Amino acid sequence: MSEKIFDRWDELLRRAADHVSACRCASGCPVCIGAQEAGIGMKQDVNSLLRVLAEEK
Ligand SMILES: [Zn+2]
Repeated sequence: MSEKIFDRWDELLRRAADHVSACRCASGCPVCIGAQEAGIGMKQDVNSLLRVLAEEK
């Protein structure tokens, strides 16, 4: 069943990036990027990484 995700990998990355962007938090929270150390502000880094991965072929 997990093999099917590779056919939709680009869509998955785009949707994940959209999910992070749409979150109303400022710097990342358990809803959008998962657990993190408080105050690190990884939201922009996660979003940038997802967008770069989505653009790679
Ligand atoms: Zn969030």
